[in-house]
Amino acid sequence: MEKGKIQLVKSPNFNDRPSASITMIVVHHTVIPTLEETVKHFLSTESKVSSHYVVGRDGRTVQMVKDEDRAWHAGISSWKGLDNCNDYSLGIEVVNKGDGAQPFTEEQYHSLYELVEYMVSEYGIKSDMVVGHRDIALPPGRKVDPADNFDWSRLAAFADRKRVTELAQNLRIEYEKTHTGTEGA
Ligand SMILES: [Zn+2]
Repeated sequence: MEKGKIQLVKSPNFNDRPSASITMIVVHHTVIPTLEETVKHFLSTESKVSSHYVVGRDGRTVQMVKDEDRAWHAGISSWKGLDNCNDYSLGIEVVNKGDGAQPFTEEQYHSLYELVEYMVSEYGIKSDMVVGHRDIALPPGRKVDPADNFDWSRLAAFADRKRVTELAQNLRIEYEKTHTGTEGA
């Protein structure tokens, strides 16, 4: 990816990573309908949210947090026994209403492919570490992004969906096991 094509708009919503290693990519949909409004939301200190990249409907990409910094996109989360996915992941927000009906655009898939290709080659991210927010959010079911109509096959060169789905299922089972009997607590 030609990083020169990416516009930089720095969000105040980030902090230091506890360790330098970047091992995961998390894909989101914004719900917010435009790139401009999403950027504005991530610029607000009140929102307390951000992501490393935002991909607009026309494929334009804005970087809001440096890769080496910790963006605030995943919330309470866990993957392969490691909690707090923000610590070690890169977040990509794709502008989409998230209603399962609005298509993700060709331009978005194109930019996303380039972005993920860059990240995988730069950081050596493994195919079962390219996930959706819905796969890692706790409690399971808390998040539904990216929506069902997001076409993971477009990222098949980098993301092993079969393996990710299996791991997400394990996470759900583990969570249910450790949280039985705590209803109402
Ligand atoms: Zn999300």
